[in-house]
Amino acid sequence: MLSRRASGIQPSGIRRIFELVASMEDPINLSIGQAHFDVPEAVKEAAIAAIREGFNRYTVTQGLPELNARILDRLRDRYGLQGRHSLVTAGVSGGLMLGYLGLLDPGDHILLPDPYFTMYPVLADMVSATWSTYDLYPGTPLTEDALEAKLTERTKMILVNSPSNPSGRTLTGDELDAVGRVAERHDLIVLSDEIYEDFVYDGPHVSAIGHVPEERLLQLGGFSKTYGMPGWRMGWAVGPQPLVDAMRLMQQFSFVCAPSMAQKACLVAFDVDMSGHIAAYAGKRDRILAGIGGHYEVASPGGSFYIFPKLPPGCPDSAAFLERALERKLLVVPGKAFSARDTHFRLSFAAGDDVLERGVEALVELAESFARG
Ligand code: PMP
Repeated sequence: MLSRRASGIQPSGIRRIFELVASMEDPINLSIGQAHFDVPEAVKEAAIAAIREGFNRYTVTQGLPELNARILDRLRDRYGLQGRHSLVTAGVSGGLMLGYLGLLDPGDHILLPDPYFTMYPVLADMVSATWSTYDLYPGTPLTEDALEAKLTERTKMILVNSPSNPSGRTLTGDELDAVGRVAERHDLIVLSDEIYEDFVYDGPHVSAIGHVPEERLLQLGGFSKTYGMPGWRMGWAVGPQPLVDAMRLMQQFSFVCAPSMAQKACLVAFDVDMSGHIAAYAGKRDRILAGIGGHYEVASPGGSFYIFPKLPPGCPDSAAFLERALERKLLVVPGKAFSARDTHFRLSFAAGDDVLERGVEALVELAESFARG
């Protein structure tokens, strides 16, 4: 009965963990992919006021002109964006779907980072594109040669995601320059998912803007993570005019528009200072690394709120790791949810300090238990 497209999709490995959480009492949940703080009061009030004032109808497909203007101005001020073509999307997920639909014909090829955010390959499958990966595991530099080796006759797009979900890795300006040169040489589009742009800990965020030529760059960003509002479904897409126009047209016939009251509220969001939360997250990262560093091989993530350690010595695979973790009520996401490899796991530090403390304790115990055999 179902389409091949639908029946070929495996449920996300992360969803399974969510189901486990629901069945556990007082879990140490380090599997969460959203900030643990709530939406700022001023932003909530703006959404409530918009609803009360009757701002509940469709907006124009591309999103409120004043919100598009704010997004573009911010990208110009922060990263030197020149272009003025944008679309307010239903989250970065909406932008990803429209970007894939706008660029990829059946049989076209897209190059993804490994490890990758779970949605990237599934969306490729949904539009009948093919995909393969370039290695971005800790310690592997992103080079022109590595990308060139993975291109096919049908490659149309390279996807970059910095800071990364699941590894927290941030790409350097040199690495993004390399991506830009390969895109230029082979006439490709670079889709840059920068949803974690505000969660950076070792210096300012390096955007693909300014490193990849703008006529080749589709930059996606969003409000879900920075303002603790993933349920509000707000994001943006900025890129070359023909592509943004095509995405707007497809939004008209699918999502229609991003939620009206959330668009109003996001006008206020950009004025809220989130730096206290970011500084607190930097502290959380450092404390976890200090706690588990002696027991796990782990790279310090430059951004996002994830850490991606290697499974500890003596642990054969993530299934074994998860089993023993669950005995300690600890929930993390196995690396194979984000990769063909099963060598790492993702933990999220978007949690209260008490949970993180219990998490570190459990992780150390786990490593010790595998070391004993
Ligand atoms: N990209 C990445 C890398 C993500 O981690 C997420 C959320 N987990 C998204 C996109 C989607 O975010 P949203 O649709 O809420 O904007």
